[in-house]
Amino acid sequence: MRYLFIFCCSFFLSLSAVADYQLTPKKIAENTWLVEGSTDNFSLHNGGNIVNAAFIVTDHGVVVVDTGPSFAYGKVLRAAIASVTDKPVIQVLLTHHHPDHVLGNQAFDDVPIAALAGTKKLLQEQGNYMAENMYRVVGDAMRGTEVLLPTQLVEEGLMEIGGHPLRLLSLTGHTGADLAILDERTGVLFAGDLVFYQRALATPNTPGLAAWLADIDTLEKLPWKLIVPGHGPLATDHQPFVQMRDYLNWLDSALREAAQAGQDMNQVLRMPIPERFAGVSLTRYELIRTVSHLYPRYEQQQWQRLDQ
Ligand SMILES: [Zn+2]
Repeated sequence: MRYLFIFCCSFFLSLSAVADYQLTPKKIAENTWLVEGSTDNFSLHNGGNIVNAAFIVTDHGVVVVDTGPSFAYGKVLRAAIASVTDKPVIQVLLTHHHPDHVLGNQAFDDVPIAALAGTKKLLQEQGNYMAENMYRVVGDAMRGTEVLLPTQLVEEGLMEIGGHPLRLLSLTGHTGADLAILDERTGVLFAGDLVFYQRALATPNTPGLAAWLADIDTLEKLPWKLIVPGHGPLATDHQPFVQMRDYLNWLDSALREAAQAGQDMNQVLRMPIPERFAGVSLTRYELIRTVSHLYPRYEQQQWQRLDQ
């Protein structure tokens, strides 16, 4: 009896850790579903669910875009998919290697998990460190989560799956290897973290803000009807691109001007954030991180110029 009690307790405890995610797919276009995360930071409370995952129910089966922050999330995502279709999951596409987008991979270990070659390399190099960090921040929801590398590599081009021509774009602005996906049947653009909307962008792996701005131009010119950002709400207008461009340009010039003025890091991370970004969540938090990621480069450019 006692063992049965212990079994039941541990069963329900593990179930509650999994069930806490409460993922509800929202239909956003023909055959297309969004599982929207919060625009907050990682926390014990949200189990790392700060990310947008999505899936397309094609004639041949389901294509999943990003697997979320943990094994448990991946399992709940898979159950959520099964709640809207009987079709099997046949393909996973990863937009980039960051932990909130790929640590649900284990729940999809029976299907091809595709990513850009650069994404696989970055996950190989940084995955364990990122997962450890997630355990520290998110805690119990991470239980059992391990890095599972992509099993299939994709390149820029067209991937036709079950009546959905998916145009794959190989870009670099957010991490050096960023996959964006335009479904040419529905016009849905899965932008990954190249587009943050109403949530401050994160810069730990960016090759530079100029590269990111160029990617924003590339994406905006595509024939999209609906934008699914990596973080933040859906949009049918240009506003996410307008906001990204405004924010990236502000960051770039603010960091350059601070370097020109000879400010040190401690001064820069306290700099004023323009009032027009008040509705964007986590601006101060991400600015502090960005200064540590990027400010040394701006200082270096400045020093070189003085040396000339
Ligand atoms: Zn990211």
